[in-house]
Amino acid sequence: MCTRFDIVTIFPSIINAYLGESILKRAVRNGLLDVRVYDIRDYTTDKHRTVDDYPYGGGSGMVMKIEPMFNALKAIGADGEARKKILLSPQGRTYNQDIAEELLQDERRILLICGRYEGIDERVRETLIDEELSIGDYVMTGGELASLVIIDSVARLCPGVLGDDDSSKEESFTWGILDYPHYTRPPEFMGLVVPGMLLSGNHAKIAEWRRKEALKRTLENRPDLLKKAVLSAEDKKMLQELCSQKEIILSEENDELDKGSRREV
Ligand code: SAM
Repeated sequence: MCTRFDIVTIFPSIINAYLGESILKRAVRNGLLDVRVYDIRDYTTDKHRTVDDYPYGGGSGMVMKIEPMFNALKAIGADGEARKKILLSPQGRTYNQDIAEELLQDERRILLICGRYEGIDERVRETLIDEELSIGDYVMTGGELASLVIIDSVARLCPGVLGDDDSSKEESFTWGILDYPHYTRPPEFMGLVVPGMLLSGNHAKIAEWRRKEALKRTLENRPDLLKKAVLSAEDKKMLQELCSQKEIILSEENDELDKGSRREV
């Protein structure tokens, strides 16, 4: 087993539904992944199982109460095992592939706390958690999807979870750049053809082509990644070629624009 996840939520069914399908379902069944889901309402003490209340100071929305959260974390921690306690929040460090790898390497147990409503009583953040993680600069209605993003991305790095462990070694972000394009049969569909190189059977040339395409995509879509990517001398040469091709295209486009504007004048 790689990592055990404990999820604290008021909607356990959201988590269970996702874990009940496909690769993660198989990983759980094969004992590679251990996910336990806790319903915060089970840790309330009133007959209405109340998990939220009005905000002090007024304003819209409800706030999740600290007591049920405290009780849940105490019960989960009663086994004496150390866990990294992560609060899902749009205000946290932005999650990415490096953090997924970090969690897999460093943590045997991870506890994920899913907020709802306007969020959780600030005292939870101040006293009960180790870190806040955000899955991006947007606000969702709850932390359940964010938890699933983390579980899914960490689990697929765990040896044995994917059918072929090499799959996760060649993907976007693994080497700091985006993935190359993928094609499958048929070789031609309504005039759209698969690049001839992929049908050549020359594996060395195919690897070179894929690397160049991956660099090209990264340059076009996420040039910011190239600053931190691990690049070989060959990669740098390919990038220089790609940049000069881009400059030629841009200058040709500018020429066309110039001609157009001269015509308009
Ligand atoms: N009032 C909060 C704010 O503006 O920062 C937003 C609360 S949000 C509506 C409710 C819950 O959804 C949060 O407590 C958090 O658990 C979860 N959530 C929303 N967006 C998220 C994001 N980008 N990443 C991680 N969790 C998020």
